[in-house]
Amino acid sequence: MKDGFGREINYLRISVTDKCNLRCQYCMPSQGVDYMPHEAVLTLEEIYRVVRIMESLGVRKLRFTGGEPLVRKNLVKLIGDVNGLAGIRDIAMTTNGVLLKAKIDALKDAGLKRVNISLDTHDKKVFERITGYDGLNCVLESIDAALEREIQVKLNCVPCRELNASEIETLAALAQEKDVDVRFIELMPIGCGKEFHGISSEEILERLERRYGIAKRAPDAKKSETAQYYLFEGFRGRVGFISPMSHKFCSACNRVRLTVEGRLKLCLHYDNGVELKPLLREGRSDDEIRKCIVEAVKQKPRAHAFSENQIEEKEDQRKMVQIGG
Ligand code: SAM
Ligand code: SF4
Repeated sequence: MKDGFGREINYLRISVTDKCNLRCQYCMPSQGVDYMPHEAVLTLEEIYRVVRIMESLGVRKLRFTGGEPLVRKNLVKLIGDVNGLAGIRDIAMTTNGVLLKAKIDALKDAGLKRVNISLDTHDKKVFERITGYDGLNCVLESIDAALEREIQVKLNCVPCRELNASEIETLAALAQEKDVDVRFIELMPIGCGKEFHGISSEEILERLERRYGIAKRAPDAKKSETAQYYLFEGFRGRVGFISPMSHKFCSACNRVRLTVEGRLKLCLHYDNGVELKPLLREGRSDDEIRKCIVEAVKQKPRAHAFSENQIEEKEDQRKMVQIGG
């Protein structure tokens, strides 16, 4: 399935919940958000149907996210079901890692291949300050549990001047110690993120080179790769930079998102997309839904405009936890 700019869309990110067991300051207000009423949220059967239809349109990779995906009941069953679809080649999850260790065997058996674990600090106290929860040890144990089960692990850190600026070098050192890639993601001005100041990839690379020596650029594994990877001498894993603010990667974007309330969202930044929930609940046929998806995908915006003051289309005003990161 191609969008209006000829980009092949083969990657679907699925937000399975807007609930979360943490309160990362740049993502979710400390008092939480108004959760969607139960009936507004897509059922697991509805999500499966959308995935099946999108698989028939060429989607090959899925990523489960949220909110915190592991707080959604019966997610393991959904993963097992979508893993049974012949066209689905890769199933990944983005998680805060707190509940991962307890579910790792079931997830592996269901077909999960890779996890991105969000980790903004390697310090217990700083972790608690950022997330509102004393959970660093759980996350570290989950990382080891996933590696033991041969699930590929990437760690994602969002550096913020106000929260974890002093943590960069120690976090990167996890790629020295363990067989994991550590990636730094530039903060985007979405929801609570607007109240903090991100740190550019360039500045972080400079700091890491000062500490660990000059890094070599690693070759890109694929065209749609969003991260630029570097190899530091003596490190087991790579250090990556995802730079939506300083280096847009929209021209190679291959993804769309299914939100928790069933909208097919075409770009993280904008509100536009197609509401699939009414179609699913009005008894429309697979063919009718397929046609709507194909038409919607043609409207995918060319690029985000996070760095611009004026944008032509309507910006999504919700918090990241609600949009689905
Ligand atoms: N709860 C899961 C987790 O934390 O991995 C999945 C959802 S979370 C919204 C997905 C990712 O979005 C996390 O790595 C988080 O750090 C990141 N994130 C949240 N707000 C962000 C922002 N304003 N800019 C960049 N990344 C953000
Ligand atoms: Fe929850 Fe993930 Fe947002 Fe943190 S980043 S509050 S873990 S959804």
